[in-house]
Amino acid sequence: MNFTDPFHDEHGDSLHEECGVFGAINAADASALTALGLHALQHRGQEAAGITSFNGEEFFSRRGLGHVAENFSSSDAIAEMPGFMAAGHVRYSTTGGAGLRNVQPLYADLAAGGFAVAHNGNISNALTLRNDLVRRGAIFQSTSDTEVIIHLVATSRYPTMIDRLVDALRMVEGAYSLIVMTPEGMIACRDPLGIRPLVMGRIGDSIIFASESVAFDVIGAELIREVEPGELIRADFKGNVESLHPFGRHAPRPCIFEHVYFSRPDSIFGGKSVYSVRKEIGAQLAIESPADVDLVIPVPDSGVPAAIGYAQQSGVPFELGIIRSHYVGRTFIQPSDGARNSSVKRKHNANRALVEGKRIVLIDDSIVRGTTSLKIVEMMREAGAKEVHFRVASPPTAHSCFYGVDTPERSKLLAARMELEPMRAFIKADSLAFVSIDGLYRAVGQEQRKAACPQFCDACFTGDYPTSLSDLAAREAKDAQLSFDKVA
Ligand code: AMP
Repeated sequence: MNFTDPFHDEHGDSLHEECGVFGAINAADASALTALGLHALQHRGQEAAGITSFNGEEFFSRRGLGHVAENFSSSDAIAEMPGFMAAGHVRYSTTGGAGLRNVQPLYADLAAGGFAVAHNGNISNALTLRNDLVRRGAIFQSTSDTEVIIHLVATSRYPTMIDRLVDALRMVEGAYSLIVMTPEGMIACRDPLGIRPLVMGRIGDSIIFASESVAFDVIGAELIREVEPGELIRADFKGNVESLHPFGRHAPRPCIFEHVYFSRPDSIFGGKSVYSVRKEIGAQLAIESPADVDLVIPVPDSGVPAAIGYAQQSGVPFELGIIRSHYVGRTFIQPSDGARNSSVKRKHNANRALVEGKRIVLIDDSIVRGTTSLKIVEMMREAGAKEVHFRVASPPTAHSCFYGVDTPERSKLLAARMELEPMRAFIKADSLAFVSIDGLYRAVGQEQRKAACPQFCDACFTGDYPTSLSDLAAREAKDAQLSFDKVA
């Protein structure tokens, strides 16, 4: 741990956030709509939830740790946030001690008026910017990278809020889908490469923004379109909606991991059904890496669509060989390896009557540390499976994400530490295969990955990061200097 780095936690993992954002303007019940929308985005973050509203005069805010239902179920809670504009946020970070101060939307009273922001993504030069701002006298209230945006807006010399925001965002590198509220209205924007998702919808006269289209289904809104990479959409209280492209046009690099794991399967991302893409990844996997088995078994829930695709392509029956308890939290969130291991067992149970004496192939969306896969393979063997093969509906995750998907530091990624055969031995499977990167691209409708200009951000698989990573470079330079000092 680097104790001078506020974006690092005590486990040595950086504070990468997985988040969901939602915004509604010109809606009589803006906070209630936002609470419903956040329910549909709950899978994007379970650590905390917050809503900020505006009634034409004042901003109101309620933020809490835990799930949306724990914080926003009662009409009293919603009544605390009156007004016809609201923005909400669900958050999940790897840090245990993140606390309330990091829960979004963040709000500040600026010289130009109130400013609230909800952010999905990760700013890869946040620490560099923050250090500079602190040197110039800024006092930070949180350890969230999002607060950097507020300080940059506050200190910008441009006269209007939109110009200040653009000025601030020009200094920021990395991934951001933002919903901003000011007394003039709402601004939704996506980073120039469109790494994290953001969609625009409509219900009656209200304009809605959300991380995923599934949030519109829940409130009965119509999906209009995606917010384009690098686009700022400004919506005011008179019903005007204006699109700006202040950063020029770049070849987009949306996150391919949204298709693999992160988005809900009933969402539309990049104009494609996430469910269909996942099934197609499974089909590609079956073509590339068939298994001579009796049953195709998904690792629930994230492996289900790919397993259906694998089964349909291969003609091998699809069966539920693992039953999942829906009352245990996600295994990934547990801070220590011990806690993570025990919760895998509480979460999944073998369907012994089905798998006993069978040759099976397990399908999961990804292997990160390998904890889940090892436990599940062992569980299947204990339940009497004769052969246990493993197929993964993504290429090996060998690189950390710096753009807002929570992945552990690189040294903890199984694929960063091992080649294929040692990985197979580690998870104790009879065989192991990952879909190829081109297979993944075929599944999302591309002929192949264009190496010179990839159509997606796939850095977690390829190490090809589409932006500079100033904080990482600064940290590496510092570490190199430290070891140089030691030697010298
Ligand atoms: P692991 O046990 O560390 O190998 O984690 C693999 C499991 O975590 C897979 O079943 C995935 O569905 C799930 N997973 C992959 N990436 C993430 C993520 N960023 N956040 C939460 N869960 C994830």
